[in-house]
Amino acid sequence: MMSDITFSSVEDLFSHQLQNWRLLAANYAALSRVEVKEFQLSERYVVKVQFNPARIVSSAAKVDKESVSQRPCFLCHQNRPTEQEAIPFGEDYQILVNPYPIFPKHFTIPTVEHTPQTIMGRFGDMLNLARTMDQYVIFYNGPRCGASAPDHAHFQAGSRGFLPIERDINDFDFEDLGNYHESVIRLAQSYTHPFFLIQSSSIDDAAFLFSTLVEGMSRVKEESFEPMLNILAWYLDDQWLVAVFPRKLHRPSCYFETDATKRLLISPASVDMGGVFIVPQRADFDKVTGDDIQKILNEVCYDEEMTEQLVKQIKSCL
Ligand SMILES: [Zn+2]
Repeated sequence: MMSDITFSSVEDLFSHQLQNWRLLAANYAALSRVEVKEFQLSERYVVKVQFNPARIVSSAAKVDKESVSQRPCFLCHQNRPTEQEAIPFGEDYQILVNPYPIFPKHFTIPTVEHTPQTIMGRFGDMLNLARTMDQYVIFYNGPRCGASAPDHAHFQAGSRGFLPIERDINDFDFEDLGNYHESVIRLAQSYTHPFFLIQSSSIDDAAFLFSTLVEGMSRVKEESFEPMLNILAWYLDDQWLVAVFPRKLHRPSCYFETDATKRLLISPASVDMGGVFIVPQRADFDKVTGDDIQKILNEVCYDEEMTEQLVKQIKSCL
């Protein structure tokens, strides 16, 4: 049900939901006591591992076509919990507080209409959202890269200052791959996994560089739908920072390990790409090592050869 209450900001929405939705309040309270481990994966970079039992709903989500078609869509208006309130973002989206948080404040921004998850035609919306919600990092998980509702288009937003990548971005060695007007696309080198950064003060120019990147990806790895990717975007000092993580695999081999002593239920998505790995099971949290994390990254992200091919594709277009 749409609420009669109008919220002047996402902050009002958040505090109202905290006061009026018991499950959500309990999950945010639990988050403040959450256990975290840190691993130094290279000389310069630290990743975090967050033990977050409430996230089992996402990490263990069945996202194959049949399972998805047989469950009621939890992002559709009629299937949402009665306590869940929304504020509109433009005509096409609604901002909801995520009741299963990773961030101190965590939102989900689905489309009003039940329509498949894709970034195609929605990249500009994502950047508009990043400017409107500039206290948050906006993120996008591809339909085969961590989105637990691949059948319903949505973004998420989490508090700024939480993901290590946001802080580390000033330390990275970047190779500039090309410009479009004042905007630039760069490759982050010597990080724990490859990613591309688009920096732009224009949505149109950023969208041009993003489409160049995506077209390059579809030449490096053939895909039936959009290339597998995760995106983090935020707005700072009048420009957008957009980190794009090309993926070659959805879930790592340890996820499917039949030997329980070796199994790790880790299903990496944007937040993990940004340096916070979500582990919903206690046993996994206790046993996971930095080597496991690096191995997972190596399995699910582009390898050196694919990255090189992609760089060539991008350079040839700019
Ligand atoms: Zn839906």
